[in-house]
This record gives sequence, C-alpha cells and structure tokens, in this order.
Amino acid sequence: MKRVFSGIQPSGDIHLGNYLGAIRNWVLLLDQYDCIFCIVDYHAQTIPYDPQAMPRRVMNAAVANMAAGIDPKRCRLFVQSHVKEVTELAWILGCVTPLGDLERMTQFKSKTQEHQLGSNLGLLAYPVLMAADILLYKAELVPVGDDQIQHLELAREICRKFDSTFGPVFPEPQPLLTKTSRVMGIDGKTKMSKSLNNTIGLLETEEQVWSKLKVAVTDENRKRRTDPGNPLVCNVFTIHQGFTQDSQIAQIDKECRSAGIGCVDCKKILARNLEAVMAPMRERARHLESPPDEVRQILDEGASACREIAVRVMDEVRVATGLRDARRQQ
Ligand code: ADP
Repeated sequence: MKRVFSGIQPSGDIHLGNYLGAIRNWVLLLDQYDCIFCIVDYHAQTIPYDPQAMPRRVMNAAVANMAAGIDPKRCRLFVQSHVKEVTELAWILGCVTPLGDLERMTQFKSKTQEHQLGSNLGLLAYPVLMAADILLYKAELVPVGDDQIQHLELAREICRKFDSTFGPVFPEPQPLLTKTSRVMGIDGKTKMSKSLNNTIGLLETEEQVWSKLKVAVTDENRKRRTDPGNPLVCNVFTIHQGFTQDSQIAQIDKECRSAGIGCVDCKKILARNLEAVMAPMRERARHLESPPDEVRQILDEGASACREIAVRVMDEVRVATGLRDARRQQ
C-alpha cells in the first residue's frame, strides 16, 4: 500500500473549508492507502498564538477529525511535536533549500502581511518543515487543497535536491488533489482559515452556524431580492456543493439566476443540509470527549507507531549526510 501523509494545524477550530478541502477526502483514502494524519502543532507556532490554549486546540483538532470520520484504527493520527525527529530533518532539508524559493511563497507573503510579523524565520521555513513531515515517513502521496500546491511543489523540489546531493533516500511525493474548490470565509473575500476569524466551525451548534451563515457574503452584485444572482461568484453556493444533493443544487442554481429564491432562502436550505451532516458529528465528538484520556491514548499510540518509522528513516539520513559513520554502531 502506498503511504499517504497530510496535516492540519491546531491554530483554531476545524472549519468547513478543512472538512471539504481535506478531511472528507482523507476519509475516502483510509482503506486504499497506508494513511498518516498529523496535527501540525509546530506549524501552528509560525503565527502568534496563545500557549495556554494550544493543548486544548490540539485535542479539539483530534476530536473534530475523528468525529468527521478519521478512524484511528484504519490510520495513524498523531501530533507533530510528539515525533521530534521532524525538527532534525527540517534542519537538514533547510540546508538544501534556496532562500529565494522560500521568499516567493505566497502564503509567506500573505501571512506576514496579515499578522504584521516582520521577518519570522519559522513562517519562512514553513514549507521546509512541511517537506520534513512528508519525507520523514517516506510518504508517496500527499492530499492537499489548492492552497497548499505551491508548498508541495517546493517539497518535491527539496526532495529532488536532497536525493541528488546525498541520496537516493526519499521517494518523490506526489499530490493527490482534492476536487473541492477553495472555500472562502464568511466575509466572501479571503480563504476560510482558522487564523482569520472568518470560519464556520465543523462542531458548532445549529444556532452558531446560523448566526454566521445569515451574515455570510453572497454575490455582491445582487443588491435586491428581485435581482438575479450569479451562483458562480457566491461562496454560499460553493459550500452547497459539499453538503447538498446534485438535484437540489441544480434547482438552486436555476432559481438564483432567475431571482426565484433570495439569498436568505438559499442560506436556509444550506443551514438544514449542514445540520444533517454536523449533528451526528457533534454527537460523535461528545462521545469521544467524555473519557478524555481515550483521545490522548489514541494520539500516543499514533506517535509511537510514527516514531518507529521516523527513527529508521533518520538513521538513513544521518548516514547519507555524513552525520553518522555507517561503519560504526550508533
Ligand atoms: P487553516 O488555513 O485553516 O489553518 P490548514 O493549514 O490547517 O488550514 O489546512 C489543513 C487542510 O485543509 C489543507 O489540506 C488545506 O488545503 C485544507 N484547507 C484549509 N482551508 C481551506 C479552505 N478554505 N478551502 C479548502 N480547503 C482548505
């Protein structure tokens, strides 16, 4: 079985963008591949964060993933910082990564601007750590949304550079692109993202969801109820694609274009369809959270299985890079 690796940041509540762009597709891979899914807490340190909140956020991310269908019996689910070898590999990979490639990453530029960070080495090196995540487990496939394609391309390049200099050690990871388009935030302008306060959380209640959905930006050219709308420029319509049956989507598309329904009607249909998916998830989350040590134990088991792989791979890397003499015992 080919190995799959993907990660999710515990920088806030897991949201609909994460579900449609990542988790829902990960669930479909569970039986076809040897899957490793990671809560990337080192990555979440690249923007300002509250250290007191981090442990809870990590647990919430684990619970949300499992409630959404990531079954830890059919994959390994673990926390990035529990396998510290990744930081060593990131250092080594950083030494074959051109600075210019990191500086041109759009996420580095946009996050630096959003958080007014000035120069932060962690944010600059984010794709190197991502390459280390993937290569440490010799993953061959990486499911990503389109927001991560640029980073994955760089990870592939880092892999080629490492292998041509010291290898061969690593297989070159390939993207497994998710079909869902990028989900925008309720502001309709920026990508829905945990770090932007524009999300609808996957485990939020019906009331919380509606309070956000009712103010969500739709087609901005549709000023009055009687104006025809354009679903192609409406983020609510994008979210419908993930939660609404095709026949109903076709109906909404038609009625929106002819002003047969207004944005509030369209949002009410979406709210109902969201609730049908989210209510069982909340229920599963409640069960998962009731014995709190169980989730912790699942993450510990995931980390120890991953550590076994990581230790072996790092041994190879140390020999390949001359940090360890192959003729000597460690
Ligand atoms: P965030 O920006 O919310 O912190 P992450 O960096 O943790 O998201 O991304 C985890 C996964 O979710 C990635 O595979 C990413 O492609 C996907 N993803 C994140 N935000 C969106 C979005 N708004 N639309 C579609 N996919 C997304």
